[in-house]
Amino acid sequence: MASSKLAVVTGVTGQDGSYLADLLLEKGYEVVGLARRSTHYHHENIQHLAGRMILEYGDLIDPHSIEKILSTYRPSEIYNLAAQSIPADSWSQPIVTAEITALGPVRFMEAIRRLNLDTRFYQATSREIYGGVEQEEVDEDTPFKANNPYGVAKLYAHLMVDTYRQSYDMFACGGILFNHESPRRSLHFVTRKVTMAVACIKTGIKNPPLNEAGRPLVENGMLKLGNLDAVRDWGYAKEYVEAMYLMLQQDHPKDYVIATNTAFTIRDLCETAFGHVGLDWREHVRSDEQFMRPTEIAASRGNYARAKADLGWEPRMTFEQLLQYMVDEDIRRFEER
Ligand code: NAP
Repeated sequence: MASSKLAVVTGVTGQDGSYLADLLLEKGYEVVGLARRSTHYHHENIQHLAGRMILEYGDLIDPHSIEKILSTYRPSEIYNLAAQSIPADSWSQPIVTAEITALGPVRFMEAIRRLNLDTRFYQATSREIYGGVEQEEVDEDTPFKANNPYGVAKLYAHLMVDTYRQSYDMFACGGILFNHESPRRSLHFVTRKVTMAVACIKTGIKNPPLNEAGRPLVENGMLKLGNLDAVRDWGYAKEYVEAMYLMLQQDHPKDYVIATNTAFTIRDLCETAFGHVGLDWREHVRSDEQFMRPTEIAASRGNYARAKADLGWEPRMTFEQLLQYMVDEDIRRFEER
């Protein structure tokens, strides 16, 4: 099977994969979404795409499943969004993080090369490749300083993208994305924990979802988080997948920082989300050692000037609007149950 506009999206059950599949379908692409097999289906983010997208199963650890999909579909574009994507888990699972997050993309680029495909490749790099860089603002030319196993794995993959681009003239781009969120964000991440906790408390839900420690996310009206002073540059995921698409439509492949160039603390996040429904976050949030990272990334903002100049991309939704939207969506889901 071959098509001039056929895209493979890995990690399609995740936040970005599902938004990107929406976008590519709107643009008239045939979309092949890659998911990995698990005993329990968790297809909440792609439920609405049933019948519109081809769903294939494969695993970034398994080169045979990757080659089979690429030789069957011979895609014009591949967006590799699959990863062990949770920095906090990368300390407890550094080897599997390396297998999936570092080597997974190399398995794709090798398959493109070995099958002699004319396929454009997008790799989901992360701002975590800058890790401990102590600079207020970073861009594509800032030297990397990854300081956790997830960041190191993403950095390896990012450098391999550059290596394949230079060595084999492959059209491959690394999108250096800063944190981006949405109602489709997994509960492993702090934004969604907070907006979900607000919704649980506001609606008085009896059985809150469980956190990664297997405890109710909210117990006795309290949410436990890690370092409340951590600073992030947060944007809206639906806008960030537009940048991924635009990168693969350019004449020349390059890496791009995608960010908002703003910075907020976890305290700001709590204040905005709880405040949206008239709650005082200080009565509901506690910092707990259990959720602290062994190393914290520095408080840098992303300078997206290159993306603005080349792709015409810039963020639109503000931090406040994003959190209010996520809180409203979480409340709506509980009320519809
Ligand atoms: P996400 O929601 O956690 O999605 C990750 C996806 O990867 C899931 O569909 C997951 O499947 C899949 N996956 C994990 N291991 C796999 C494997 N071995 N084989 C095949 N699929 C596998 O992440 P996201 O927020 O959409 O982020 C997309 C990408 O951008 C990730 O690579 C992430 O590291 C990177 N990134 C994200 C951000 C952000 O702020 N969101 C920022 C920078 C970079 P399961 O559901 O089965 O686990």
